[in-house]
Amino acid sequence: MSYKLFIPGPIAVSEKTLRAMAQPMIGHRSTDFVALYQSIQPDLQALFYTADPVYLSTSSAWGVMEGSIRNLTQKKVLCCMNGAFSDKWLDVALRCGLAAGALKSEWGQPVDPEALRQELATGQYDVVTLIHNETSCGCMSDLPALAAVLRQFPDVISIVDTVSSFSAMPIKKDELGLDVIITGSQKALALPPGMSLLSPSKRALARAALSKTRGYYFDFLEFQKNHEAGMTPSTPVIPLIYALRSKLDDIKAEGFEARYARHARNNQQVRDWAFAQGFKLFPKEGCGSVTLNCFANTRQVDLAALNKALKAKHGFVIDGGYGKLKGQTFRISNMGDETTETMAALLQALDAVLAELKS
Ligand SMILES: *Cc1c(COP(=O)(O)O)cnc(C)c1O
Repeated sequence: MSYKLFIPGPIAVSEKTLRAMAQPMIGHRSTDFVALYQSIQPDLQALFYTADPVYLSTSSAWGVMEGSIRNLTQKKVLCCMNGAFSDKWLDVALRCGLAAGALKSEWGQPVDPEALRQELATGQYDVVTLIHNETSCGCMSDLPALAAVLRQFPDVISIVDTVSSFSAMPIKKDELGLDVIITGSQKALALPPGMSLLSPSKRALARAALSKTRGYYFDFLEFQKNHEAGMTPSTPVIPLIYALRSKLDDIKAEGFEARYARHARNNQQVRDWAFAQGFKLFPKEGCGSVTLNCFANTRQVDLAALNKALKAKHGFVIDGGYGKLKGQTFRISNMGDETTETMAALLQALDAVLAELKS
């Protein structure tokens, strides 16, 4: 059975992207591959708003999220936590045997810039992890305000996860002075899962060079050495690189500003619908994500029954709540290629299912 995903990743992939993946394989040390890799770089640098390189990693985002803290932490990493993914980053740091501290907020509350400043002022830390858009609870932190704090601590390297916000709004890496930005293929970029992207600053590379425990697969220096030759350290997921090439063409054709405006419009369309239905946003007011909405289940809807009927009768799937929020919240993604019309089709189907569940 085929159905369309409106969960916050993986999301629906266009026919054009799927076709792009079906091209013949090329050797990853061939001149054809180097040409492909090098053609992608300038477009990625534009989207990252950076002059730094952008590495392609054949792993989901967690690969480079773990790899980054292993490359960069010499003293202690501070993990800013306000949802499932950011909470887990602390756990991952501890599993890697790193010294790690927590800056905790409630799920749905943004990371507090002043609390970050106070914690960094203790001088214990040389790395900070931060999630821009906490997908688990649909909460977006104020990246420019947090970046302004980070710039006051030039010895602290910042690692920013933009997995579910990247390319849906401007994230100006160089202007904000962020060191490492990470994103994944299957969220806002609307590619299938299996690849992550990583852009490190010069400072981050210099720090990585000090580490004796970088390992191999996620070693920043291996990425850099191969990047300079237009390649990746090991055999990459070439079909996804074809897909990325195709998607970058789509993004350029649409225009960055038009793409950002479309995401904002689709996001508001879903909010307007939910508010009219009597639901409320779960995250703190003013901190709702632009790529998904996480709503509190204020009407006590049976979300499992809703999703079952939505899928069976209309061919759509939304998310019934992440981790400890299962049943209490639901999430609807507006990432990727969605339009006013495709979002309206989902919302009409939800209206029909909600009316049926009530009667
Ligand atoms: C999905 C997601 C991840 C994890 O990505 P994987 O590709 O599953 O490793 C990390 N951070 C955020 C914010 C996410 O939304």
